[in-house]
Amino acid sequence: MKTDILVIGAGPVGLFTVFEAGILGLKCTLIDNLDKPGGQCAELYPDKPIFDIPGVPYQTAQEHVDALLKQIEPFEYDLMLNERVDSMIKKGDRWEVTTNKGSTIETPNIFIAAGAGSFEPIKPNLESDFSSLEGKKIFYSIKDKTIFKDKNVVIFGGGDSALDWTVELQKVGAEVTLIHRRDAFRGAPDTEMNVRKLSDEQKIKLLTPFIIKDISGNENIDSIKLLNTDSKDEIDIKADYILFFYGLNKKLGPIIDWNLELSGKKIQVNTESFKTDKEGIFAVGDINTYPGKLNLILSGFHETTLAVQKAFSRVHPGERIPFGYTTSSKQIHKKLGYSEKQ
Ligand SMILES: Cc1cc2nc3c(=O)[nH]c(=O)nc-3n(C[C@H](O)[C@H](O)[C@H](O)COP(=O)(O)OP(=O)(O)OC[C@H]3O[C@@H](n4cnc5c(N)ncnc54)[C@H](O)[C@@H]3O)c2cc1C
Repeated sequence: MKTDILVIGAGPVGLFTVFEAGILGLKCTLIDNLDKPGGQCAELYPDKPIFDIPGVPYQTAQEHVDALLKQIEPFEYDLMLNERVDSMIKKGDRWEVTTNKGSTIETPNIFIAAGAGSFEPIKPNLESDFSSLEGKKIFYSIKDKTIFKDKNVVIFGGGDSALDWTVELQKVGAEVTLIHRRDAFRGAPDTEMNVRKLSDEQKIKLLTPFIIKDISGNENIDSIKLLNTDSKDEIDIKADYILFFYGLNKKLGPIIDWNLELSGKKIQVNTESFKTDKEGIFAVGDINTYPGKLNLILSGFHETTLAVQKAFSRVHPGERIPFGYTTSSKQIHKKLGYSEKQ
C-alpha cells in the first residue's frame, strides 16, 4: 500500500492533517492503535467541554472529533484502527512503515501525531499465559457486538466501558456477568442504576467483590478462577468470552526505538516545517517539542498545516505549492464538493 502522508495517530491533529493535505491534493493514511478516531478527546474526556477552539465557543470533546470527521468527509483517506505502528525503515527517499498486525505502507512522508504515545489496554496480571485466547476469546475493546449474541460473556471492570457494555451486550442477547473488585462503580450513575436494575431483574449477573485469579484454556476458555476479596472463597465460573475493561495505559511505545532526536519523551522539531532530524519524518501535536510549545489542539493544527506544505514538496518536487483561501479558491471548492449555488 502507498500513500502521500502516513499519519501515526488519529487524534485531533492527525484528523486535521487529512483536511490540510486534502486541500493540496495529497492523500493520507491514518493508523491508530485505538478502536476509534479522536485520540485523547475521544478516549479520555469525550463529554468534557472545550472552550478554546478558535471560532467555536463550546464543544464537547466528542463533538469536536465528530466535527473534524465531518470536515474531512470530502477527502479520500484510509483509517486503520486497532493497529500500532511498530517500525519505520528508510528505502531510498521513501519510508516503509510496519504495524504490529503486519501491514506495510510505503510513503515519502510520515507524520507522527502520536500525542502522549499509544494507549495500551491494561491487562490482568495472571500466572497463566492467556495470550492464545487474546483477540479470539478475550478482548479489551469491542469491534462487532453481534458475535456475543446468545453467548456467555464475562465482563471485568468498574468504569463506564464495563457498565455500558454490560447493558449493551445484554440487549443483543448475551448472557452477561459483570465482575468488579468492589461493590461501587466509577461510571455514570445512571448506567450503574440501570445495571443494578438488570441484576435485580436477573437479566444479568453482578458479582462483587471479586477479582480474577486465573484463566484456563487454550482454544476456548475452560474456566475462570475468582476470589471473593471479603470471604476469601474461590469459585470457578465458565465463559465463552471475557472482556477486560481495566482502562488504558499511555505508553510512548515504539517511538523510543525510531532513533529520532528526543527531548525527554517528546520529539524535537524545527518550527519552520515541524520536521524531525530525519528527512521525510514530521512530528505534530502533543508528541513534539520546541521552544514555547503548548500542548493545545490549536497548536497542533498550526503545526500540521505548515508540515503539510513541506510534505507536498516531497511528493511533487519542484512544483509550486498551491495556496488559496478556502473562501474564494474555486479549486478548493471543487475538492470540497462545494458549489456557490448551495
Ligand atoms: C482532560 C483533558 C482536557 C483537555 N482539554 C483541552 C482543551 O480544553 N483544549 C485544548 O486545546 N486541549 C486540551 N487537552 C489537550 C488535547 O487533548 C491534546 O492537545 C490533543 O489531544 C493532542 O492531539 P494529538 O492529535 O496530538 O494527540 P492525541 O489526542 O494524544 O492522539 C494521539 C493518538 O495517537 C495514537 N498513537 C500513538 N502512538 C501510536 C502508534 N505507535 N501507532 C498507532 N497509533 C499511535 C494514540 O493511540 C492516540 O489515539 C486536554 C487534555 C486532557 C487529557
